[in-house]
Amino acid sequence: MVRNWFGVLLWFICPIMVGCGPSSSPDVRQVADPFANPENTSVPTPASTSSTNAITTDNKSPATREPSGIIANTGPNSPSPTIEELAPPSRTISPKKNTVANPSTDTLVNASLATDETDPFLPKRKLGPLELVDVQVAPLLEFGLRHSESKHLRLITDLPEAEIPTEFHAVFEQAIGQWTEFCGADPRRFADWRLTCFLVVDEVKFQRAKLFPGAGQLPQGKLPPGGWQYGNQVWVRQQLGPYYTRHMLLHEATHAFFAFNFGALGSPWLAEGLAEYFAVHRWADGRLQLAARVTDKDELPYWGRVKLIRDAFQTGQPKTLLEVMKFPPAAFPQVESYAWSWAAVSLYAGHPKLRPAFLAQVQKLGQMTDTQWNRELLEAVPLSRLQLETQWQVDTMSLQYGHDFARTAIQWRDVKVADQSEYQLTLPADGAWHSTGLRLATGEWVVTTTGSYQVAQTEMGPLISEPDGVTIRYALGAPMGQVQFALQGDPAILQGMSELTKPRPLSVRAVMQSTGEELFVRVNDLPSHLEDNQGQITIVIRRK
Ligand SMILES: [Zn+2]
Repeated sequence: MVRNWFGVLLWFICPIMVGCGPSSSPDVRQVADPFANPENTSVPTPASTSSTNAITTDNKSPATREPSGIIANTGPNSPSPTIEELAPPSRTISPKKNTVANPSTDTLVNASLATDETDPFLPKRKLGPLELVDVQVAPLLEFGLRHSESKHLRLITDLPEAEIPTEFHAVFEQAIGQWTEFCGADPRRFADWRLTCFLVVDEVKFQRAKLFPGAGQLPQGKLPPGGWQYGNQVWVRQQLGPYYTRHMLLHEATHAFFAFNFGALGSPWLAEGLAEYFAVHRWADGRLQLAARVTDKDELPYWGRVKLIRDAFQTGQPKTLLEVMKFPPAAFPQVESYAWSWAAVSLYAGHPKLRPAFLAQVQKLGQMTDTQWNRELLEAVPLSRLQLETQWQVDTMSLQYGHDFARTAIQWRDVKVADQSEYQLTLPADGAWHSTGLRLATGEWVVTTTGSYQVAQTEMGPLISEPDGVTIRYALGAPMGQVQFALQGDPAILQGMSELTKPRPLSVRAVMQSTGEELFVRVNDLPSHLEDNQGQITIVIRRK
């Protein structure tokens, strides 16, 4: 079944590989096409009617791993596909192919596609039916279900009246505005958009009311422990605690928003990464903040993604960014896949040099195959593959709650070989790695640092450090404020861990043995607490 995935992938790759024009990024072109699959040379004929409704299934329960992933469905009345069989087509919606819910509904779908072209406020390239079950409000109480309505959300649940999370309505209302802004979408498109959320404790009650997907429609025949989305309907299981239940609503609703706005969800890493990225939220005093940078893990109970990535480094199983971007749908039974995907989207959306290209590429969802979309993203970002993977290693290895992907951005410079006997430069004490722009010629170099700078703002006042660091506070295993260095050689990084993940103390003075590496320097600090850093350090580099 895996072969199907690669086969379909290749089908989309082949014309691109033959006909694609020059890349705008020379660095990207130094390596083989990252999304090509050289092992597979057969080119299967794609199905004549591609799958339709992008369905996401989510397995977010911290306690249980569960079958999920993003699968395609040929429509509510069609036989249940296996994940492996239909997952790739669901992700690769070719703009030149109609995505029909059912072969027998060609006429209907063609009509709706035609309408799409004339009315910009209808859902784009409708992915099959927007509703899986028909909701009749009147008999709900008979089945032990309650409903509440607001402009954009209908909430149906079997929770007792007193336990219904009525804030869902305000949460969803505010979320629409934030998704819309991120996607650059026209708010008028969502003026009449309506989501139905089934908040489930006892699914039997929903089954009796015919408000539950059939076993044949659900992955492995059951509702995953997190939730599931189909068009404008989401099923969310009540989670442990109100935060995580809201998180799941926002996760599934993010899928629904993207499906409605773009008619596509993107590759598995992108779809699930975006859903997790937005679902990490803060809800306080009636105000919602999606994609919140939350530094206190107690504010995200049961979420646990940061630990999963840290654990991967402990067990020697970290993923490269490219591996994450190539996750097949079948990767999504594993909760870890959600964690890596969240980190990848957080990096692209947070890093100041990656964010503009990422947002521009999000605008192109639904306009090309997923493979092509991924490739274009890599070509559009102003970092080379080497720089991108280095940044990814530095961030994921030291990942924190509230990790500041903007302020950890490595400051690259054009590099030259150090051919003078002495250099002096001044760098901000902002906690990010800074290239000195110097490749130290083979031999010994003495580097000295001076400076007095702020590394934290505390209740007692500013915490000022000098290059040795402050020993009353540690960050990442070393004194906060300590000046550190790394000598990074050539692209060997793609086969291992960058030297930037192994900082060495420079403090006020260090003697370095170089064999031609580039010198990087930083002030040590927690990647979640860099906003209060101020000041700079002065470095003198002398050949010994
Ligand atoms: Zn999902």
